[in-house]
Amino acid sequence: MSELKITDAETFITQPHGVRLVIVKVLTNQDGLYGLGCATFTQRHLAVKAALDRHVGPFVIGKDPQNIEDLWQSGMVNGYWRNGPVLNNAVSGIDMALWDIKGKLAGMPCYQLWGGKCRPAAALYVHANGEEPEQVADKARALIQEGFRYVRCQLGGYLGPGGEKVARPEGGLPGAYFDPQEKLRRIPGLFEYLRQELGEDVGLLYDVHERLAPTDAAWLARALEPCRLFFLEDVVAPEDLDWLANIRSVCATPIAMGELFAHPGEATRAVSERFIDFIRSHVSAIGGITPALKLAHLCEAFGVRTAWHAPLDVSPVGMAANVHLDVACHNFGIQEWALRNQAEQDIFPGLPQVKDGYAWPNDQPGLGIDFDEQLAARFPPGDANPDWTVSRLPDGTLWRP
Ligand code: MG
Repeated sequence: MSELKITDAETFITQPHGVRLVIVKVLTNQDGLYGLGCATFTQRHLAVKAALDRHVGPFVIGKDPQNIEDLWQSGMVNGYWRNGPVLNNAVSGIDMALWDIKGKLAGMPCYQLWGGKCRPAAALYVHANGEEPEQVADKARALIQEGFRYVRCQLGGYLGPGGEKVARPEGGLPGAYFDPQEKLRRIPGLFEYLRQELGEDVGLLYDVHERLAPTDAAWLARALEPCRLFFLEDVVAPEDLDWLANIRSVCATPIAMGELFAHPGEATRAVSERFIDFIRSHVSAIGGITPALKLAHLCEAFGVRTAWHAPLDVSPVGMAANVHLDVACHNFGIQEWALRNQAEQDIFPGLPQVKDGYAWPNDQPGLGIDFDEQLAARFPPGDANPDWTVSRLPDGTLWRP
């Protein structure tokens, strides 16, 4: 009979690289035994911290950290209403920490707990962005020279080409204005140019960021087909999932989606209907490692591969979890990677190392990553909210991504 108990769950918010990170540390009554988890919902960090400090943390204190499945299930329904990115992230912070503890108890890296390695490391894609195709090609070329084999190429940043130049109409409300037609005009040409310049060997990716009407998305997916993308990401919003059937019927451009999924039904439908080729869920936003393992296995049965979401708002702890999933899941596809700065590497010793375009997990027990609380405190979080989340069409209409 186990005497092991959770004694505390501490939540930290730090901002060493421009975005707020939410880190959870689960402590136990066994000397020196603790686990780390990622609960980063960077735009609602205080809500996640309150959910952890006032609700989910107190709920798990006193319980046996070894019962991960039961704690995940009960943590999710303890407030009766369930799901949603705030609660999912809070539960994720605990869930990842419990897997970290499980690995430390077993003396094994997490990937060993999930069946061992299918591959030594996770192939990565990185980002090249520019205002003009020549600039994008130069940045992509530099990344390829560093050893990366897959590059996501964007013209004009998050909002797409011309995003900065779209004028706010007289009386238009504040927001990040963008013109979807500019994407249709310029993106096919961008990828024709990149194929010419970069050759056939590199894997090219493009993210629509849900900023096209569904039929325009189908048009773009078909127009890009000759350029053989590795995948086209988020061509429609989660509410427009059923439109993917139309897009599939007109072209064979591989489709990736899922970073905005919070309810498990969204992913289940996308996978079981074979609307997508790659699942892009943000592991902490779906509730952590426990649901991610189940989702990965569901995907395997339907021929869908994983491509876990991982910009800078997945903390290094979350990245370690992703890389352990990547090497252990047979149907791994690719791992997004945002290059990490020195402060993050110092705060999070054990951050997976990148070499030759791959991320390598280390052999330490658990997730193999640590957290320097004192150093993290030197990077306090700001309170600004991004404006790109409130984007508007040229006539001032709000766009729902
Ligand atoms: Mg995306």
